[in-house]
Amino acid sequence: MARILIKNGRVWDGDRFHYADVLTDGNTVAKIAPVISETADFVYDATGKTVSAGLVDAHAHMRGISTDKFGTQAELSCLPFGVTAAADASGENGNRELLESFLLKGVVFAKARFDNDRADFTKTKERLALFGDKAVGIKVYFDTTMSPVTSVAPLREVCDFAHQRGLRVMVHCAHSPTPMAEILQTLGAGDILTHAFHGGEHNAAEDGFEAMRQAQARGVILDVGFAGHVHTDFAILGQAIAQGIVPDVISTDITRFSAFTRGGRYGMTMCMSMARHLGMSEEDIFRAVTAHPAKALGKADGWGHLAVGRTADIAVLDFGEEGFYLTDKAGHRISSQAGYRCMLTLSNGQVAYRN
Ligand SMILES: [Zn+2]
Repeated sequence: MARILIKNGRVWDGDRFHYADVLTDGNTVAKIAPVISETADFVYDATGKTVSAGLVDAHAHMRGISTDKFGTQAELSCLPFGVTAAADASGENGNRELLESFLLKGVVFAKARFDNDRADFTKTKERLALFGDKAVGIKVYFDTTMSPVTSVAPLREVCDFAHQRGLRVMVHCAHSPTPMAEILQTLGAGDILTHAFHGGEHNAAEDGFEAMRQAQARGVILDVGFAGHVHTDFAILGQAIAQGIVPDVISTDITRFSAFTRGGRYGMTMCMSMARHLGMSEEDIFRAVTAHPAKALGKADGWGHLAVGRTADIAVLDFGEEGFYLTDKAGHRISSQAGYRCMLTLSNGQVAYRN
């Protein structure tokens, strides 16, 4: 197995930045020290770049796991963007074996349906059985354009169902029939609100972010779930950040529709660039794509940290000339000359992508 030495980078270990060299041996991180001069099979000079724990995408859609409508080729939409582990946020197809066949590390949320304001777990139970411990949560679409739902009553049923099984709930909340406060008050610590900064009816700004502030303090996880430009209102996310409500998690919600658009550059790095453009600090951004999503998915022991003895899942990112523009549904435009770009991705100590 190869030894890879990444020199002169700024290391993000999941908790803080510091300058160090990183040496891998086989599939594990062997050494992190200010100067490492041991020999290696491959030496990468990361001067001016960030050497991060492999990024974790808490909301993605993988071909064969999500529906054919949404699923996209898992490795191609993740590894070139530094993402080494992801959660499929609908889990309607496939099984544990398919997920394990990906080079990308993965878990799933199994979908529960709303039917006339009742929760229906028939399919959900089948999916949970097929994925075993790869299923970490239940996903619901609390969205009148996708589900027949008018109140939080069925969401309460979903929370009970999930929590009894040691699972978390991920709620898609755009086009909500109720104020966001009702959703947030129904969720418990560790449950995830995705598309938390959408600009549709009943968004977070409606009550001046008060419900969101209280829920986050209780441990409800706020996930951006960018979805390209579809499910995030740039003005609302910018206002939230300015008011001190920092998203816990930045995810892509990458699908067949957003992957490979914008010159093939839509992915986690573009989401990080948008967050930076809207005022998030670098520490908050890196935390929101490593340690926080790892913990939110119950994988803090394995993902989201760069440390000696851990699996060598590493993303080397550059910040520089990487222009992009996006317009959200409300017409707010982000146009930037600078952005993050993935230069090198190691998965299990092997070079999985090199720019
Ligand atoms: Zn999604």
